[in-house]
Amino acid sequence: MEEAVRPWGVYIHIPFCKSKCFYCDFPSYAGREAFMGDYVKALVKEIETIGALRVEAAGTPATIYIGGGTPSLLPMELLETLLAALRRIFIEADFPQGERARERAEAGAVEYTLECNPGTVDLDKLKLCRMLGVNRLSFGVQSFDDRLLRRIGRIHTGLEAMRSLHLARIAGFDNISMDLMYGLPEERLEDFRHDLQAMAELSPEHISVYGLQLELGTAFYQMQEKGRLTLPSDEETEAMYDLMADFLPEKGYERYEISSFAWPGRQSRHNLSYWQDAEYLGLGAAAHSYLGAMRYENTHDILAYIEGIRAGESVRRLEEQVTEKAHKEEFCFLALRTREGIEKAAFLETFGVPIEEIYDEAIRNLVGKKLLEETETHLHLTPLGMKYGNMAFEAFLF
Ligand code: SF4
Repeated sequence: MEEAVRPWGVYIHIPFCKSKCFYCDFPSYAGREAFMGDYVKALVKEIETIGALRVEAAGTPATIYIGGGTPSLLPMELLETLLAALRRIFIEADFPQGERARERAEAGAVEYTLECNPGTVDLDKLKLCRMLGVNRLSFGVQSFDDRLLRRIGRIHTGLEAMRSLHLARIAGFDNISMDLMYGLPEERLEDFRHDLQAMAELSPEHISVYGLQLELGTAFYQMQEKGRLTLPSDEETEAMYDLMADFLPEKGYERYEISSFAWPGRQSRHNLSYWQDAEYLGLGAAAHSYLGAMRYENTHDILAYIEGIRAGESVRRLEEQVTEKAHKEEFCFLALRTREGIEKAAFLETFGVPIEEIYDEAIRNLVGKKLLEETETHLHLTPLGMKYGNMAFEAFLF
């Protein structure tokens, strides 16, 4: 009997941004627009080679996610070239699913997301994306307060974020996610309440909310080192967290992961697959892949990526075998991020040993502290455990 192919995902990285936000440590660069044409050409070649090989081996993917950077910054003609290649290789490919692949895509069987920044989309661009198969948008909003947006280095306004959502609706998108941040410099609880309120009034199907983290190498990190950053106190940040955790479910958003809220049935399938140990193929500079117990990372350097692909060389700069120990740890702490938590049967099936045999002490300890709840089938974080997630995750490290 043929072995069933597990659902897998594709991640496409677009490393261009109009300017660098002060908190951002993602592999994205401002002022490199001149390379966009060559970059998309190289990306299409990688899609047509590495991507097609993967489809031949594993069938078409369950999810496609174009992230960055700012994918919506690509000019129309480059966006069209990229989306057409993705559609050809990953949706309409004449491989195991044959012509049914297109039907599946059109029926929404493939979750196909494009990350956008407000102020970088217009109606024509959004219509083009919809026409070429994109069925989900994720907007980096962060705040609706122009004062806060300027303070974190964002280039859009609150009004532009609202306008972008309306344009996306006109273009036919009925599955939209928006990101918010809290704990921003000089932000007060009332500011964050206002942002949550504004977000709920817009009614996107999905909302992600992140607390500000000071990452090494960012402008904010340097400002903090020099004592020039005024952040809310720990108590104020905790109050913002509590507000988020109460407010969004009251508005009908189910919290299905530590930072993610959605209308029923509108969870991000792509992100869920990361937390559920599914395989993914990353294409583009700095993209990561997780395939067959191996992790790969492409070079971060845009020029090295373009030259490497052009010369037919590998652009992977890192390849590592995921050890069984690391796999067990990741399996647990990624699954614990989700509302369902760790499925005991899935752990047993993956590692051939019941989870209690390995983590008995950690489980008792966390249950005793009311951070973890155990049912017959699952282990999942309590609301307190979600709040202090790191304590729970650490317990699952050997
Ligand atoms: S738009 Fe996104 S990827 Fe680009 S710099 Fe800002 S946070 Fe980073």
